[in-house]
Amino acid sequence: MSKKDEKNQRMEDLISLCKRRGFIFQGSEIYGGLAGTWDYGHFGLALKNNIKSLWWKKFVTDREDMYGIDADILMNQKVWQATGHAENFSDPLIECKKCKKRFRADKIPDVKKCPDCGGEMGEPKQFNMMFKTHVGAIEDASSVSYLRPETAQGMFVNYKNVIDAYHPKLPFGMAQIGKAFRNEISPGDFTFRSREFEQMEIEYLIKPDSWKEVFEHFRKEMFDWTNLIGLKKEHVYEHEISDEDRAFYSKRTIDFEFDFPFGREELYGLAYRTDYDLKRHSDFSGIELNYLDEETKERFIPHCIEPSFGLDRSVLAVLSDAYTEDNLGGEKRIFMKFSPNVAPVKIAVFPLLKNKPQLVEKAKEVYKNLKKEFGAVMFDDNGNIGKRYRRQDEIGTPYCVTVDFETIEKDNMVTVRDRDTGTQDRIKIEDLFAFFKKALQ
Ligand code: ATP
Repeated sequence: MSKKDEKNQRMEDLISLCKRRGFIFQGSEIYGGLAGTWDYGHFGLALKNNIKSLWWKKFVTDREDMYGIDADILMNQKVWQATGHAENFSDPLIECKKCKKRFRADKIPDVKKCPDCGGEMGEPKQFNMMFKTHVGAIEDASSVSYLRPETAQGMFVNYKNVIDAYHPKLPFGMAQIGKAFRNEISPGDFTFRSREFEQMEIEYLIKPDSWKEVFEHFRKEMFDWTNLIGLKKEHVYEHEISDEDRAFYSKRTIDFEFDFPFGREELYGLAYRTDYDLKRHSDFSGIELNYLDEETKERFIPHCIEPSFGLDRSVLAVLSDAYTEDNLGGEKRIFMKFSPNVAPVKIAVFPLLKNKPQLVEKAKEVYKNLKKEFGAVMFDDNGNIGKRYRRQDEIGTPYCVTVDFETIEKDNMVTVRDRDTGTQDRIKIEDLFAFFKKALQ
């Protein structure tokens, strides 16, 4: 198999596991789908929610300098005029004259030749990626609004509210997790480039002279984060964006890239956005968006460092790093090697046989007690033990607990099986709590 075929195969295997085990489904599937849209099923959603909660804890709850925001997706059209999105949030679109297929001109190897049919290409033109809509019953220019293409502006427009409500001292940040929409020219690579996706973003406001120090702080925090969700160190890279490629308002940008099965691509971004956004909103709204330094009595517009995380890209990176195949006991198996803090299910509890009431009763009791403490615990009595192990391996459950006849008749011990090694240990029921407390850390 060529390297390219191998990568495609790996992606297909991952997509098929995601559907089979209920992580991610194609959007509107029974109607043939809708390009660039994906629906999360039970386990995918649990994985996504775990990542979200970890992010919120690390970047908001565990800090003293962050303020959460949950702004609406629809905003006054002036927001997007101020930021320049209404005019410039576009990608170069190019169409093949022969097969009429459309591409992003900056993503194809040769702008003269169609990558699909080899036909002659037309001239590239700018295509605005914002989804346009109308708010209210009258469809005229004044009612135009857009589905936000980033969560960032929902925070900048609330800067004055944050200052007035909480009186924070610089430096401080605003943080938000929410949906963003982009009418991507060529969505693809599973959820990597979607038209509807979630972002986790911070606008960290600073005095201009501290930008280098704060930039370094978040650079390290972003690396630590990739480690926290279990991404392999050797798959995460920094890419310094050159002067020519950087957004005009940014003085420094680093992309964090990741080795996805389809190649190395952007996972997150870290940008020093200067005072561009607040200045523009101040100019366009006519409202002063500055900061009074109590000590120097100086008023100025704060500068901003923006760490920006794609949530769906985080999920995809975690899924692709977790996907593992091995030969356990001479049999090929697939398992998701999630780190326990993101795993959708932490422990699965089985009765050895489902038609033996005393086994089921004991297993239910163990399940209920573990669930009270560890939350994401699953009871599974479907099929034989081998089948249950295979299912739980593909869901990525770190531990399975089996109640058997010896548990009841002999020693009050259960079999605890480790997902990664397949090893099985007998552990006393009363010791399970302490065991999992440590093992699931
Ligand atoms: P790209 O170059 O891949 O189009 P971008 O540089 O335009 O991305 P940003 O505007 O910096 O992306 O958005 C911040 C983050 O939001 C990205 O790092 C990524 O994680 C996520 N993101 C952006 N576009 C998409 C998309 N279409 N689908 C899923 N996630 C996205």
